[in-house]
Amino acid sequence: MPIFLTGKNLLVGQLEKLEFGLRELRRNTDVELHERVDLRAWTTLGVGGVATLVARCHSAIAVIQTLDLIASHGLSWVCLGGGTRLIASDRGIRVPVVSLTGELARWEMELDGMIAGAGANLAQVCRATLRNRLAGLESLGYNDHSIGGLVRAWVDGTVRLVGIVDWIEMQRPGREPERWQATKGQQVPAAEDLHRSVVTRVRFRLRPSGLAEIKPRSISPNRTRALRSTGPVFLDSRDATAADLLAEAGCANAAVGGVRLGGPRGNELVAGRSATAIDVLDLCRKSRDRVLAATGVELFSALVF
Ligand SMILES: Cc1cc2nc3c(=O)[nH]c(=O)nc-3n(C[C@H](O)[C@H](O)[C@H](O)COP(=O)(O)OP(=O)(O)OC[C@H]3O[C@@H](n4cnc5c(N)ncnc54)[C@H](O)[C@@H]3O)c2cc1C
Repeated sequence: MPIFLTGKNLLVGQLEKLEFGLRELRRNTDVELHERVDLRAWTTLGVGGVATLVARCHSAIAVIQTLDLIASHGLSWVCLGGGTRLIASDRGIRVPVVSLTGELARWEMELDGMIAGAGANLAQVCRATLRNRLAGLESLGYNDHSIGGLVRAWVDGTVRLVGIVDWIEMQRPGREPERWQATKGQQVPAAEDLHRSVVTRVRFRLRPSGLAEIKPRSISPNRTRALRSTGPVFLDSRDATAADLLAEAGCANAAVGGVRLGGPRGNELVAGRSATAIDVLDLCRKSRDRVLAATGVELFSALVF
């Protein structure tokens, strides 16, 4: 089970220099800076400590300049999308957090597809395709992830997007923007490229279709629900679903602190107000150990710690 990334390398003095640089950058570029951001408000489960510095980039140019500046201070970064899969440490994140907004949270429809900013909300993007009678994304479900998080999940092997993604634009420090184009030979971008990059825009190939033929998989429930929940916690193994393995090991509704396993398939986390990131980590470790002892199968986490 992974441990949290906290980014211990943002040293005293380094933050001030970086902030100064980002403030200078802000004069010419669309970057918003937020200091001491409470990650509980930015993640679905509502856990995690404080992010020392969040740079909200409104354009692809802002992303590359921000990444270049961060790299010039010898630092790494964390990209935060919808916060549905990323579990930040209760001690917070001390490297800069990059998040996408402005033109990177918008999309444009085309006759046979759409170009979406990586910060756009998947649920809104799916509704827009439905309104425009374009089929292809409806099987994804209508959830509050970001397009960038969806691409990362695809590259991590948890979601299937083959045939739907036409190209992906990515930025990494010290490089010109890169465009990965889907071809018959390479249907998924290389994980090591994506893990070192921030995805900024994606083009989806969609089919013009009648409304009756587009069947949305699910509509995300109303946000007024009392408890917050994630998507799947563990990946399915080759021979059995994670939900079945958890049930077999007696983990149904297992709880630690303010978090319990639940959801329609029993492989989701449900969090109350007192939940902490360490509760999430403990519950995942205990459930994984119980499944291993009861079934001999090792479960792998779908969450990003
Ligand atoms: C087993 C499994 C099955 C799933 N099936 C489906 C499905 O069928 N349909 C569906 O819609 N969703 C599905 N999901 C959910 C999907 O994984 C989420 O859409 C996505 O992972 C989380 O998006 P987010 O924006 O909340 O990312 P976050 O929780 O904010 O971040 C998750 C990871 O993505 C990285 N990331 C976020 N944005 C970017 C970016 N712009 N550039 C680079 N990296 C970025 C983060 O750094 C982090 O590592 C599934 C998830 C799992 C685990």
